[in-house]
Amino acid sequence: MTLTQPGSVDECLYFTRRALVPKGKIVAWAFRKECPQCHKGLMKKPKKTSPTYDCPQCGYAEPKAEHEAEITVNVEYVCPFCGHAGEATTEYKRKSWQGVKAYVFPCAQCKERIGVTKKLKEPKQKGKAVAEDADDE
Ligand SMILES: [Zn+2]
Ligand SMILES: [Zn+2]
Repeated sequence: MTLTQPGSVDECLYFTRRALVPKGKIVAWAFRKECPQCHKGLMKKPKKTSPTYDCPQCGYAEPKAEHEAEITVNVEYVCPFCGHAGEATTEYKRKSWQGVKAYVFPCAQCKERIGVTKKLKEPKQKGKAVAEDADDE
């Protein structure tokens, strides 16, 4: 598997780069989706209260849940558990992971679940790797 790297953060709905403690690293990103109506604009992330994603070119609006179901989080990682360097994809949907919400994916080699948490949240379970997130959701 070879993931497409973002050319700039502007192409991304989500982007984060982390060093894990005590070892491992994660780069995770999700591309903004092209507008399904005009195919010119990249759909914009809504404000917290907005129920839709909107196209800056034509104004097309898509319900948040429907839009996010089509978004994929791409991950490049060095596993904090076994040191394996790999790539993964997961849903653009945070799940419960060690007591906090995170984008979760399994290491291709050791199958341990690795989580990309929100900023400044620490897993409640001690001794596991912590990944932080620049997302302000
Ligand atoms: Zn459009
Ligand atoms: Zn591993």
